[in-house]
Amino acid sequence: MSKKRILVIEDEPHIAMGLKDALEFEGFEVETAGKGRDGINLAKTGRPDCLILDLMLPDVNGYQVCEEVRRLDPLVPIIMLTARAQEADKVRGLSVGADDYVTKPFSVNELVARIRAIFRRAALAPGAPETFLIGDAEVNLSTQQVRRGKAVEPLSFYEVELLRLLHAKAGVPVSRDEILAKVWGLDANPTNRTVDNFVVKLRKKIEPSPDRPVYILTVYGTGYKLATAAT
Ligand code: CA
Repeated sequence: MSKKRILVIEDEPHIAMGLKDALEFEGFEVETAGKGRDGINLAKTGRPDCLILDLMLPDVNGYQVCEEVRRLDPLVPIIMLTARAQEADKVRGLSVGADDYVTKPFSVNELVARIRAIFRRAALAPGAPETFLIGDAEVNLSTQQVRRGKAVEPLSFYEVELLRLLHAKAGVPVSRDEILAKVWGLDANPTNRTVDNFVVKLRKKIEPSPDRPVYILTVYGTGYKLATAAT
C-alpha cells in the first residue's frame, strides 16, 4: 500500500516541524508549506490525501486556501488548525469546506489519531449499500455525490460518513454524541454544533425545501433521524 500523503500548511516552524516529525513517524509522507499561496500550489501539484491547514497565515488566510483547494478537490479531508475557539470562526470554516477543526494548543497525538481515523474509515469496505435514494435525491457514497435531476453535488468526507450512519439507522433517532463518536471518531473536539452545521449542509443538497426538512429530521433533545420513507 502506498503511503498516504499529508500536506501541512502552517507558518509557525516549530508546529510545522513537530507535525511533520510525528506524522512521518506514523508512516505518512508529509509536505509542508509556510505560506498559503505555496500551500495551494503544493495541493495542486501533489494532490495530498489529507490537508492540515492553519487559519492564520502570513499571506492568504486559511479560509481562502480552503476555498481554493475545495474548488480543485471537493473530497480531500481538510482539518483546520486555529487559535480561535469562537463558534463564528468554526461556522465560517465549515462553510468554506473544512471538515474538522482542531483548536491550538492541540495535542499532536490527538491530531494524529484523528487523521488515522479518517484514513481507517475511508479504507473500510462496508457491507451496506453504497447507493440509495432519499426522496428524489440519489446518494452515492462511493463516488461521494448526490444527484437530483441533472444537478450533481459533491459530498465531503464527513457528509458521506454522516449519511452512511443515518441511513444504516433509518427511522431510528441517532444522538449527536453517537454521531460525533462514530463519524468524527473522537468525542473530544468537534462540538455538537459541528453536527448541526453538517446537517444544514446535507439538507441543502438533499431536501426539496431545506428549511422544512422531510427526510433528515431533527429529533428534539436528541439528534437526528433519517425518515424511513427515505429508503
Ligand atoms: Ca499561523
